[in-house]
Amino acid sequence: MHVTVPCPFCATLNRVDLAREGPRCGSCRKPFQLDRPVRVTGGQLDRVLAGSDVPVLVDFYADWCGPCKMMAPFVDELAAKYTGKALVAKLDTDRAQKAAAPFGIRGIPTTIVFKDGKVVVQKAGAMPLPALEELLKTADPSLRSG
Ligand SMILES: [Zn+2]
Repeated sequence: MHVTVPCPFCATLNRVDLAREGPRCGSCRKPFQLDRPVRVTGGQLDRVLAGSDVPVLVDFYADWCGPCKMMAPFVDELAAKYTGKALVAKLDTDRAQKAAAPFGIRGIPTTIVFKDGKVVVQKAGAMPLPALEELLKTADPSLRSG
């Protein structure tokens, strides 16, 4: 299984083998931290979605949004809990309005889980960790056994 993720240091998109220990950026050689949410820009979103074999949960948020801040620790926990099984990403909707537009987002936070580049489930509003996990498991039922 692979994911396509931007390097947090140099922004280069890397295709990362999830089975490999200690993956590093092919460009700047700094390590990836896949146990944390990955910040994705609007321009990177399509390639991240298309290049990831595992479900990708994207938190569409904004810096000024109170409920987004409330949910942020749960998004962090989710990334830590599903490292290697799912990709957890965050998209700043203020900086990526064009990329967010096709999804008809009316309120933030909005959480969308993609599988094979397609929307599987989309839900608006802040959620606790179990609700976020449920969205992931809806997109990939094999996660229920683990
Ligand atoms: Zn890099």
